[in-house]
Amino acid sequence: MTKLAFERPIIQRINAGLPSKYGMSHRLEPLSHIDGTPIKDLIGEFGSPLFVLSESTIRKTYKEAHRAFSSRYPNVQFAWSYKTNYLNAVCNVFHQEGAWAEVVSGFEYDKAIANGVPGELILFNGPDKSTEDLQKAIRNNSLIHIDHFDELYEIIHLSKEMTERPKVAIRVNMDTGIYPKWDRFGFNYENGEAWDALNRIMANKNLDLMGLHTHIGTYMMSVDAYRIAAGKLADLAIKLERKHGHVLKYIDMGGGFASKNTLRGAYYPGTDTAPSFDDFAEAITSVLMSSDIKPDHLPMLILETGRAMIDDAGYLVGTVIANKRLADGRRATILDAGVNLLFTAFWYEHDVRPVQPVSDQTEDTTLYGPLCMNIDVIRGNVMFPLLKKGDQYVIKRVGAYNNTQWMQFITLRPNVVMLDSKGNPHLIRKREVLETINSQEVMPEHLKQFKL
Ligand SMILES: *Cc1c(COP(=O)(O)O)cnc(C)c1O
Repeated sequence: MTKLAFERPIIQRINAGLPSKYGMSHRLEPLSHIDGTPIKDLIGEFGSPLFVLSESTIRKTYKEAHRAFSSRYPNVQFAWSYKTNYLNAVCNVFHQEGAWAEVVSGFEYDKAIANGVPGELILFNGPDKSTEDLQKAIRNNSLIHIDHFDELYEIIHLSKEMTERPKVAIRVNMDTGIYPKWDRFGFNYENGEAWDALNRIMANKNLDLMGLHTHIGTYMMSVDAYRIAAGKLADLAIKLERKHGHVLKYIDMGGGFASKNTLRGAYYPGTDTAPSFDDFAEAITSVLMSSDIKPDHLPMLILETGRAMIDDAGYLVGTVIANKRLADGRRATILDAGVNLLFTAFWYEHDVRPVQPVSDQTEDTTLYGPLCMNIDVIRGNVMFPLLKKGDQYVIKRVGAYNNTQWMQFITLRPNVVMLDSKGNPHLIRKREVLETINSQEVMPEHLKQFKL
């Protein structure tokens, strides 16, 4: 008889679904359907892993955000932040809802134009606009948000050679009580640089000053920061009217509202702590409405909300590859999607659910992705039921930044589908194949042959 291999015993807490100190059990409710469509069928048809976007959730969230602001302020306009998710189908849902485009590079600018957004409804942000980008934007009457003096001087220079008048705004950075300060973009408010830039624009006969822009941070939990920022932009608007008799067309408060995801290490879940659109809208609009700006001169209020607008609409679904025990006895479950697809796993504790019914028994588990890399962790430590090889999982709130920041690393990027309002899936981005990658590569003649 062969001797059985020794396996080190481990001690585990029994968790029978009793209330914890939060008053609820650890039971993770399975999520079997998205918008009425079985996840199992989606994986069957489109493969695993798979990104799933809910068109109705995008539209519902947009309407909620728009209502929060437009019920409090006379003239509200949203612009879709392309870098948050620039899959064309996603952009077009926002454009159908009435959003303009907010872009931060020549590539995103061209994408918006190709999607059919009129040039004059594109807000061009970002520190890197080439001469060609600026010429294009001026020709198309786009709204150029100037980031620094070198860009201002270049626009002034171009305006002398071109027939169209550049439509500009400046990006303003400021102390909003949030640290570290975001002072790398735009002109500073406190040290007078923003006011200096505005005076230079007003002194120039070729430029049309359209508005003021700020983008104070991202995943902002503080509505007070927006109150401070709106107050400082209103002050600049009032000074412009007082000194130059110039009335601005818009004030753009940028993006940055926190989504309902939970930050790593946070004590309470993001669903409980993120301020609502109503909270943000109340803070911003009350400052603008009660500022010294004359009521009939109130500028259009533009918002570039990104992550809070789309996080909830995105799901990453997939299949369990294996389970194993780590050396310390903890369970490790290996998923077929890793940080290559879910960049946001680095800063969020994503809500991961089983798709099929599971037992109430949960256990401390590390959820790994499939990459050959130690940092490929989707959840470092989560009370999770046992999912077996072949079982399916779903990761919630992945709509923001993952379809733009994902990497082609070790493996290929999967299909992305959008569920329409009836729950019918539409393929909106095809999975990559070897040819997708190889088509970008060029082999020098002398390296084409080898003999082993
Ligand atoms: C990234 C970005 C946004 C969107 O930010 P969120 O934090 O996703 O809301 C808006 N405006 C500008 C200028 C940006 O760079």
